[in-house]
Amino acid sequence: MAVYIDKELCKSCKICASVCPKNVYAITHKVNKKGYNYMEAVNEKDCIACKKCEKSCPDFAIYIEK
Ligand code: SF4
Ligand code: SF4
Repeated sequence: MAVYIDKELCKSCKICASVCPKNVYAITHKVNKKGYNYMEAVNEKDCIACKKCEKSCPDFAIYIEK
């Protein structure tokens, strides 16, 4: 299982974190080129590949690989 996040597409909306049943996501203090604090998959090992996050991200920043 792998969680890929394009940090340059992320707009810090936190939708992925709110839909994830496994608490995989956490917002970072790091900032992308557009000035947004981007998401990271801090608990990637807990991902069950349900793809709720991938489907919910309004900016298509997430890709889940099984
Ligand atoms: S849903 Fe997408 S844009 Fe929103 S915080 Fe998550 S990765 Fe970033
Ligand atoms: S695929 Fe499911 S478990 Fe994995 S990070 Fe996305 S919402 Fe969380």
